[in-house]
Amino acid sequence: MLVEEITSEEFEKAKSEIKTVIIPVGSIEAHGPHLPLATDLYTIYEVCKVLSQKIKILVAPPVYYGLCRSTYPLAGTISIKGELLKALIFNIISEFYRQNFRNFFILSGHAGGTHSAYLIDAAEAFLELHPEAKFFVANIYQLLIPFLKEIGIPERDSHAGEWEVSLIKYFKPHLVKGEGFEDYPDFPKFRVVADKKKYWPSGIWGNPLKASEKKGKILVERLVQFLIKEIKRMEEE
Ligand SMILES: [Zn+2]
Repeated sequence: MLVEEITSEEFEKAKSEIKTVIIPVGSIEAHGPHLPLATDLYTIYEVCKVLSQKIKILVAPPVYYGLCRSTYPLAGTISIKGELLKALIFNIISEFYRQNFRNFFILSGHAGGTHSAYLIDAAEAFLELHPEAKFFVANIYQLLIPFLKEIGIPERDSHAGEWEVSLIKYFKPHLVKGEGFEDYPDFPKFRVVADKKKYWPSGIWGNPLKASEKKGKILVERLVQFLIKEIKRMEEE
């Protein structure tokens, strides 16, 4: 069930029938010349929608914004601060907890390391107060890695490349503008630099030319199967 579409009465009923709440988190970020700024939101939210048709869960209204470091200087990236992201996620969890939910999946379509760390930190902070709550926190790229191998997508393909374009071609083909091009960033290792655009002007990390709707469909099917298993595992614990 999508929380944004149900009534208060349906929500009340869901409390006795449903154990797990999924909070989808996206980002508004440059994704090359070919993908929309909300790519990360669309991929994970659409996966959650498919999931909610197959298993009884609540999908919270998504968080559109995330923390974006590497694409920060690129046009269209609207990043929020990590402390704000952590506080927002913490607040949303607290509210679903107040409504009697205990099992939480925080699933991010944005795979940035710093962003992901703040999501984990929100869960850690909540567990300090409510150790009986249960959390699964992951980003889509981490979750897809085993399935990328299966269909021959190299692991270094990570942003606006083969798998991400495949997902948008599958879910929202009308939003893919042209094909993009193969590119990779050249950040100097361990350096934290202000002029990120110098090392990564394109926002592409991988090869979008090899993307296809079919690959997107396979990845979604695999990911949904995997998440159903993880949700059941947590609920049966
Ligand atoms: Zn992305």
